[in-house]
Amino acid sequence: MSRSRVRVGLILVALAVGSCSQQPYFVAKDEPWRANEERACLASGIVRESRFVTPRSALGGPSVCGAIHPFFVSAAARGWVSLTPPALLRCPMVPALDRWLERVVMPAARYHLGAPVVALKVAASYSCRPMNNVNGARLSEHGHANAVDISAFTLANGHVVTVAAGWWGTFRERSFLRAVHRGACSTFTTVLGPGYDRNHRDHFHLDLARHGHDGAGRICK
Ligand SMILES: [Zn+2]
Repeated sequence: MSRSRVRVGLILVALAVGSCSQQPYFVAKDEPWRANEERACLASGIVRESRFVTPRSALGGPSVCGAIHPFFVSAAARGWVSLTPPALLRCPMVPALDRWLERVVMPAARYHLGAPVVALKVAASYSCRPMNNVNGARLSEHGHANAVDISAFTLANGHVVTVAAGWWGTFRERSFLRAVHRGACSTFTTVLGPGYDRNHRDHFHLDLARHGHDGAGRICK
């Protein structure tokens, strides 16, 4: 059900999905920065294991998917904000999520919605698949556990703001969602939302990919 072949630095990987006869595949580059960056993050000790942040196996590894030492994150921002379901993330994504929540999402919820945010709905995290599930596309950052999709924010008063309804919802919801989307761009290197395309009409995609020749490019749409 699977095949692989190496071609000028590109690895074409066929993935068998369930019993489906189609075999979605993706193209993955050899990208040494990923392991280097992850090892540096792990060595820095920035991610502390806790009852909310627990280590997992290497996921897809050894393969192009997965991570060396991924974490299962059930709550972020020192436990203040639950992730439902928990997200599987590589090391650099854990402090990035904390930073976005503490510096942007938590203050924005209080300011625009008048209540603390207590949970995020995780629409996707680790998934070994091509970008946008398109056959032959590059391996998604989700395949490296380097991305998370957020589809809703739950407040302490029980109110739930979904990206799908809230993006064009009440003035307060629109203001909150635009603030957290824009604010994500100073932490994550790729931020995609409903303004980008129909695939993202119901969630924010946040990742730490490298863009451009020097790897310092950013995508904020
Ligand atoms: Zn995504």
